[in-house]
Amino acid sequence: MTSLQSEIEQRGSRIFELVDQHPESLFSKAGFYQRMMALSMRDEQFKGQLFRLVDVLPSLRRSSDIVEHLEEYFTDMRDGFTPFIHTGVRLARMVPWISGPVLRWNVSGMASQFIAGKNPNDLMKALRKRRAQKIGFTVDLLGEAVVSEAETDEYAARCLDLLETLARDTRGWSDPLGKNSELFPVVNVSVKISALYSQMNPADPAGAIAHLAPKLRPILRRARELGAFINFDMESYAHKNTTLELFKTIFSEKEFKDWPHAGIVIQAYLRDSEVDLRDLIEWGRARGTRFAVRLVKGAYWDYETIKSRQNGWDCPVYFQKQESDVNFEALTQLLLENESIVTAAFGSHNVRSIAYAQALAGELGIDRSRFEFQLLYGMAGPIKRALVEMGYRVREYCPVGELLPGMSYLVRRLLENTSNEGFLRAKFAENVSAEELLRDPRELLRRNGPGSTASAANGDSHHKNDASLDTASGDIYQNSPLVNFVYKESQDKMRAALREVRSRFGEKYPLVLGGEKVWTDKLTPSVNPSAPKEIVGYVPEGGIPEAERAVKTARAAFGKWSRTPFEERARLLERAAGILERRRYELSAVEVFEVGKPWAEADGDIREAMDFCRFYAAQMRRLGRPRLTQHVPGEESFHHYWPRGVALVIAPWNFPIAILCGMVSAALVTGNTVIMKPSEQCIICGAMLMQIFEEAGVPPGVLNFLSGHGSVIGAHLVDHKDVDLIAFTGSREVGLKIWESAGITRSGQRELKRVVCEMGGKNAMIVDSDADLDEAIGYSIYSAFGYQGQKCSALSRLILLEENYDRVMERLIPAAASLRVGNPEEPGIMVGPVIDEAAYRRILDYIETGKGEATLAYQAKEVPPHGYFIPPTIFADVKPTVRIACEEIFGPVLSVLKVRDLDEAIEVANDTEYALTGGFFSRSPANIERVKAQLEAGNVYINRSCTGAIVGRHPFGGFKMSGGGTKAGGEDYLLQFLLPRVVTENITRHGFAPEETPQYRDEFLWPKR
Ligand SMILES: Cc1cc2nc3c(=O)[nH]c(=O)nc-3n(C[C@H](O)[C@H](O)[C@H](O)COP(=O)(O)OP(=O)(O)OC[C@H]3O[C@@H](n4cnc5c(N)ncnc54)[C@H](O)[C@@H]3O)c2cc1C
Repeated sequence: MTSLQSEIEQRGSRIFELVDQHPESLFSKAGFYQRMMALSMRDEQFKGQLFRLVDVLPSLRRSSDIVEHLEEYFTDMRDGFTPFIHTGVRLARMVPWISGPVLRWNVSGMASQFIAGKNPNDLMKALRKRRAQKIGFTVDLLGEAVVSEAETDEYAARCLDLLETLARDTRGWSDPLGKNSELFPVVNVSVKISALYSQMNPADPAGAIAHLAPKLRPILRRARELGAFINFDMESYAHKNTTLELFKTIFSEKEFKDWPHAGIVIQAYLRDSEVDLRDLIEWGRARGTRFAVRLVKGAYWDYETIKSRQNGWDCPVYFQKQESDVNFEALTQLLLENESIVTAAFGSHNVRSIAYAQALAGELGIDRSRFEFQLLYGMAGPIKRALVEMGYRVREYCPVGELLPGMSYLVRRLLENTSNEGFLRAKFAENVSAEELLRDPRELLRRNGPGSTASAANGDSHHKNDASLDTASGDIYQNSPLVNFVYKESQDKMRAALREVRSRFGEKYPLVLGGEKVWTDKLTPSVNPSAPKEIVGYVPEGGIPEAERAVKTARAAFGKWSRTPFEERARLLERAAGILERRRYELSAVEVFEVGKPWAEADGDIREAMDFCRFYAAQMRRLGRPRLTQHVPGEESFHHYWPRGVALVIAPWNFPIAILCGMVSAALVTGNTVIMKPSEQCIICGAMLMQIFEEAGVPPGVLNFLSGHGSVIGAHLVDHKDVDLIAFTGSREVGLKIWESAGITRSGQRELKRVVCEMGGKNAMIVDSDADLDEAIGYSIYSAFGYQGQKCSALSRLILLEENYDRVMERLIPAAASLRVGNPEEPGIMVGPVIDEAAYRRILDYIETGKGEATLAYQAKEVPPHGYFIPPTIFADVKPTVRIACEEIFGPVLSVLKVRDLDEAIEVANDTEYALTGGFFSRSPANIERVKAQLEAGNVYINRSCTGAIVGRHPFGGFKMSGGGTKAGGEDYLLQFLLPRVVTENITRHGFAPEETPQYRDEFLWPKR
């Protein structure tokens, strides 16, 4: 054993000895809380339901609501708790006016375990108590979830008030150790950076800093005047780089450069934390003034792993607990070795981590008064006491505020306390031995093997091509990751792509018919809607002759392509996906310029295009082989598919590459030949997609790129006898015309035309009375105004119950007022221009109509003077039957409707000609079940935005006047492009037949290759 390890063991054992002198259970508050936590640790299902109930409770107003939720959360539990729960719920139901408040009181008690007070007065009581125990404090203001700049101003004002109160009420207090006290001001405030700016966008750290710095300066200035210390807390990974950059920027300013009382948090569970800490230390040395670092493991482990899995990102956190522990120790060493410039605060309840810091500091000869231990309020009391007794400086992290805004903090603490991996549970609830708890985490890591649980945490990180009927269709392939703009490298690549695409402005791209480049005597310009004088590029305008040529060449190519093995066709799509991936930044940049998409939206579009290619390739492998219909002796019948013929693809501009690529790739992989006609507003994107398929090796004539006026060539082709299938996504007006025309049989026509038709929506979101408003408002704003409301899935009717109407509106309007409107070339922009002048005028007309039909509740005042910018607009008091509530506007205009109750809300939501997407925010399991069953929409989204469908995960498309009920990105989509066929053979010869017929056989192809 090394001498350091034996020192750690000695110090750790000493802490345990002192802890055991004052035995205390993990949960110092006895009673309800202790029982609930004990049950939670025994049963994961109970824990999930309990935490969900705790989460919703503060927002419930009536006792009867509390009892209803209690019943909904617990009566369906299947296990040993059932009788216990049922009795409790029955009792609660009998006397709701008693049981409701009692439950609320108990949960408040639970919260008061972790929250030092509701207001500064309560807080001071707690701080005085701790002072008597020689424990210092850092105060954190609860309420970091802000949805508007008004709320961030409020948070900043509360920080200033807090500083004043603390400075006033602690006058005369001194540092408990009395040595090196100049490093540790008594007043210490922890600030959550995201609470100071509501529009944080990981792609735009500079923009965030420009907004954050002016909010922070007065706080820092006052703190300095009052002799206080300010610490920047660290939140989720998405904000990490901005927080670090902000810290370095602001404390390099002349005014604060020589101020030593500033600190920041480093989270050891992050893989890049060492790089960040080294960078900070280097910065600190160059700055020449001390600063502080609070080292923690990190509080968002579950969130980070879920988020990165959902987006296909590399997970920023370690997968094994011991990896975080080992890294915590490595960073402890780095901090202590640089003690001359950085003051360390070790934020941990883990005795091994604490003993390590003590032992190493001893070995390095650092006096114990030159660093401190920080622990959370309400946790690990005996450890704090032991550390004080050992002569170390201890500071407690004390959250203050109301329960409702403090809920996310409380849930984080409950999770931490009941985590299987956590030290506190092991020591105080499971009585794991001191020897085990003090073991070197490297040793445990060696035992487990590095990264052995990585795949468990990363879940489906493999392609799963062994599809069976039990495999969810989305699980047979893996979605492409989104670009994570949190990384500077991604931001730099996007900027470079924007520059490069800009340098190509004005280039000309040909039509491609039968593999030949075709020019006509008229060029169509494609303009940048943010700056209509800028021409992104030109494409020749095709007319009837080009349309005829396209049909002819597609028809000629059909014979061979339809007999090409599906595996070859699937590979073509996969090659196209690879090229899309290689060119994704460039293509995103084209979208920014051509259709005004913000960065992340543009990237989402390219990701979707790749997903369509890979998903449909996988689906075709599923469908392609002839499948036995039934086992019967002496005969075999195989069901298989043929392509339909020539497919005409007519796509919209709002997902300029994804939707075009989705329809084209579905048609190609199923063996059809294709005439691809992009929308007139995004012809450059269309030309790019043609280049991609050409590079991928699509044979001449199989895919043809035709551009021109929809009313001329589109209409001509829809009616054409040689077009067998029309895949259309766009407006209802055009969609219905296509549907009608395609129904007429023309002379010489071989097939009944199939129309795959996706049209618009008038999508509703209902907000229930118990909804989490931070989420409901954030997601509603995003759903309504993301990409300027120009997604067919966008929210356009927000339906609020009378009961919470005022509460929602009070926060919704300032949230809309905080949106950044501008040219999406800038990374922090959320609302860009609408697509063109016609759309601009039409939407403004709707806004005028709205002014006559309802109350204009909000309209942005400042939008860029040039370009097609429409100010985000909200109408209130909208009646369900007026035009703005019924007609699709396709712009940043939101109607808010007030209804009596959920019955009326569902009625209003369903009372529309459309059925595309719909949303519901609620924490009532019963109401959620009801909406799942009753909301008429192709895609129903609960407690999330109603936009952003992902291929394979959310097969997308609606019914009623929203579409024909097909689901793009779903398992049955390809069937629209195919004709089913059955081949039956009698295999009996003179009473003899083979015993077994295979389930699948090779394709029926002739001549065989
Ligand atoms: C004073 C103070 C201030 C804090 N400020 C912040 C802050 O600003 N930002 C912040 O994020 N957190 C902050 N925390 C919270 C802190 O991150 C958690 O309390 C802490 O991680 C618990 O660690 P521990 O050493 O006490 O316990 P331990 O039980 O030793 O460690 C638990 C931690 O290990 C990590 N972990 C758990 N499972 C795994 C796994 N499978 N793989 C890898 N790692 C895993 C997680 O970080 C988890 O929280 C603060 C804590 C304190 C005490």
